Amino acid sequence: SSTFCSVIVVGAGISGISAAKLLAENGVDDFVILEASDRIGGRIRKEDFGGVSVELGAGWIQGVGGKESNPVWELAQKSALRTCFSDYSNARYNIYDQSGKIFPSGLAAESYDKAVDSAIQKLRYQEEILSGHSTMSEPPPAPKTPIDLAIDFILHDFEMAEVEPISTYTEFGEQEFLVADERGYEFLLYKMAESFLFTSEGKILDSRLKLNKVVRELQHSRNGVTVKTEDGCVYEANYIILSVSVGVLQSDLISFRPPLPVWKKEAIEKCDVIVYTKIFLKFPYKFWPCGPGTEFFIYAHERRGYFTFWQHMENAYPGSNILVVTLTNEESKRVEAQTDEETLKEAMGVLRDMFGSDIPDASKILVPRWWNNRFQRGSYSNYPIVSTHQDFANIRAPVGPVFFTGEHTSERFNGYVHGGYLSGIDTSKALLEEMRKEKERQMESELES
Ligand code: FAD
Repeated sequence: SSTFCSVIVVGAGISGISAAKLLAENGVDDFVILEASDRIGGRIRKEDFGGVSVELGAGWIQGVGGKESNPVWELAQKSALRTCFSDYSNARYNIYDQSGKIFPSGLAAESYDKAVDSAIQKLRYQEEILSGHSTMSEPPPAPKTPIDLAIDFILHDFEMAEVEPISTYTEFGEQEFLVADERGYEFLLYKMAESFLFTSEGKILDSRLKLNKVVRELQHSRNGVTVKTEDGCVYEANYIILSVSVGVLQSDLISFRPPLPVWKKEAIEKCDVIVYTKIFLKFPYKFWPCGPGTEFFIYAHERRGYFTFWQHMENAYPGSNILVVTLTNEESKRVEAQTDEETLKEAMGVLRDMFGSDIPDASKILVPRWWNNRFQRGSYSNYPIVSTHQDFANIRAPVGPVFFTGEHTSERFNGYVHGGYLSGIDTSKALLEEMRKEKERQMESELES
């Protein structure tokens, strides 16, 4: 037996929820939301750790204080979400070498400025090569020393805005706020859901939200879609909004019948996926500096990205004695594949290099695994500089009744929570427009006959 409805939304992350909300607000009530996991939120996810709530996925509201207002910041204000101001730029003055010495701030600032220049040059070089009008004969030299490698890592993985303009910061502003709320960043999703789904005592009880429904097969034609889930359920609809990550689209989790057209497959393949891993460590007491300008610190090692970027949680949760270290890409995949005990040993080795051998062992470690999560397959999209408007148009474009949404479909804000939020709205607007046109076509053909 199958269930019929007007629209199926696949995924209950921020884009799926914002898409469904807009449909509901426009009178389209007969939708179902099929979510593979047992919760809403997707890549916005908190977990209790060492007595506080930590964010395994998105942690910051990025892009605040600019000429345009960030809609996610507005949602946070309305929900009285607790946040604290974060200043990444301090990190460059807290760079430790392997013997625990802090690089003098003058030297660090100089290396930083040099790294920004060379990153800009490298970008220009790549653009020139691509356009076929190369004026530079050589790319700038690759960083080699531990300090240069560390700075190169933070520049590319955290502070790209210093190298090239990023819409999030140019349009919404340069400030970033860390979410530090016991209810989690995901409380924003719950507040959105509450406005159009039936809830009671803090729980969503609406039968249109279906959890633990893993979509595995999607049949589509001009007449609509049929979807099969892993547990053997079948759903039919006129339209479908697919909000799964680009990593999931690149995997074989969902098979399309007929297969997606080549232009769509190519757009999906061209988009890179970043893996970004925040590892949380709980200690019996603090042994790291905590005053102003110390929230972030850097470990310089000859291996690029080896436990480089550290943050203490004293601003967010004073007295929590928690440190966070962020790994990306290859290092993320490496630690995902090993046991948490091994990762803990490596992290402690690095901390003992920085703070001496007599620091206490961490009592607890938490290692999220976004890469090996088959409903995620990475942390967020990253478009190579070769990307064109056409690539974005193609990744967004519907295929018959199949509409695509999610952070990766946002040309201006991909990779961010607000990108996911705004893409859901954009996709639903496009779908509502298509539904309106379809109605017109039907009325015309009825008049003719
Ligand atoms: P998702 O949240 O991934 O939602 C898609 C949903 O689809 C998921 O719930 C998934 O379970 C479900 N799904 C997948 N496959 C299926 C299937 N076959 N059937 C049914 N359901 C399926 N952004 C910021 O703005 N600031 C940050 O500080 C920040 N940090 C980040 C740190 C990390 C570690 C990560 C992972 C992300 C971070 N981001 C950050 C990015 C931000 O979290 C995402 O851009 C945003 O949450 C994506 O929302 P979405 O709705 O597009 O996708």
